[in-house]
Amino acid sequence: MERREARGGTLILGGGFAGSYVARNLKRRGATILSPENFMLYTPLLPEASAGTLEPRHVVVPLRQMCPHAELLLGRATALDADRRVVAAETLAGPAEIVYERLVVALGAVTRVLPVPGLADHGIGFKDLADAIALRNRLIQQLERASIHPEDPAELGFVFVGAGYAGVEALAELNDLAHAALRFYPNLLDAPQRWVLVDAASKILPEIPRRLGEYAARHLKRRGVEIHVGTTLESYDGSEAMLSDGTRVPARTLVWSAGVRAHPLLGELGLPLDERERVLVDETLRVLGRKNVWALGDCAAVPNFKTPGATDPPTCQHSLRQARRLAKNLAGSSGPYGYRMLGQVATLGYHKGIAEIPGMRLHGFLGWWIARTYHLYQLPLVSRKLRVVLDWTVGLFFRRDIVELSVLGHPKRLGE
Ligand SMILES: Cc1cc2nc3c(=O)[nH]c(=O)nc-3n(C[C@H](O)[C@H](O)[C@H](O)COP(=O)(O)OP(=O)(O)OC[C@H]3O[C@@H](n4cnc5c(N)ncnc54)[C@H](O)[C@@H]3O)c2cc1C
Repeated sequence: MERREARGGTLILGGGFAGSYVARNLKRRGATILSPENFMLYTPLLPEASAGTLEPRHVVVPLRQMCPHAELLLGRATALDADRRVVAAETLAGPAEIVYERLVVALGAVTRVLPVPGLADHGIGFKDLADAIALRNRLIQQLERASIHPEDPAELGFVFVGAGYAGVEALAELNDLAHAALRFYPNLLDAPQRWVLVDAASKILPEIPRRLGEYAARHLKRRGVEIHVGTTLESYDGSEAMLSDGTRVPARTLVWSAGVRAHPLLGELGLPLDERERVLVDETLRVLGRKNVWALGDCAAVPNFKTPGATDPPTCQHSLRQARRLAKNLAGSSGPYGYRMLGQVATLGYHKGIAEIPGMRLHGFLGWWIARTYHLYQLPLVSRKLRVVLDWTVGLFFRRDIVELSVLGHPKRLGE
């Protein structure tokens, strides 16, 4: 088995938001990033990649460019021997052992799937790029199928379960895409579409101020979206969803984005976990009871001295600030982590959005513009920013692209 040492002594598990920013901020000190992908996914732009307003490649940032001083190993961590300071990994080139002096755990979260009959077999997640592109392809396939069977109500039935940011933004963007695409499907102009948003909580977007959440709900209703709050999914068989309020929705597409849970590998690494199975860390992000292990991002329960009594929510904003603090701590200028959220933004399809910034709550076009500008500012690398601006500019002048590319990544066998 291959045995190697982490660059600069620091091994980072996970090249997502948290891990990549730790490596970037460590600069010339270097680090080894162990990650299954060679890019960092900028998740706030995922709904736009799904709707086709952004190219999928433009919402990810190549780790080798983003963290030029880090070494990247493509693979997955499989085990930790804390006494020997070794992580076992399954890399692209086979099993390996990586020796570290400092270990940073940034494994993120996975979709929390509930034991709802039929859900795991027929539902689609919305967590990564593969999910987003699969959903786009599914939507266009459904339009193609409906153009053959316009009388089947399930073809253009879409149920989204989970009305947090990811679910609401994905629904809004895809609903826009479906309406814009109709001009290319003249026999569907009068075909009924049904878009349903379901959440167990009493309102949608519970994480943002009430007034903005109400605006989002009104906007979606105006677009014909049915909102069922205080409601759960009871079952889904691939063509009909049953809701707890007795509603039956004929739908061939069900998107599940009802929350995340900490990465399952954490339980096997022998680290202390809280009741939500997140790694317990102190105010410097060091794992409780461990001298040389740190954790951050969605996989950790991070105390924040600016919000006493509460651990950080799972957001990019928090992961980014935690990463900045941790890089300083690892570099020797140790201090406690604290961050107060400055605002929140979300897009609700084309030209509609919401933004809460210090002293202001904006919605409509202004909210949308601020949301886009904020994401552009946060996106790393000038080359990525330019690509995104170009996509947005092209989108101003041309109609939505409706090609369905599920063939990508599945080439025919030679001779077929
Ligand atoms: C659709 C969607 C939209 C979102 N929108 C917003 C938003 O608008 N604003 C906001 O603030 N937050 C948003 N979030 C939340 C935000 O994306 C997360 O809080 C953030 O990505 C957390 O960073 P992380 O590094 O902890 O986890 P991640 O970014 O998920 O990174 C975890 C990394 O670990 C890697 N990994 C997994 N298993 C292994 C293994 N065994 N070995 C090595 N590496 C492994 C993964 O491949 C991944 O690269 C959104 C999330 C989603 C899913």
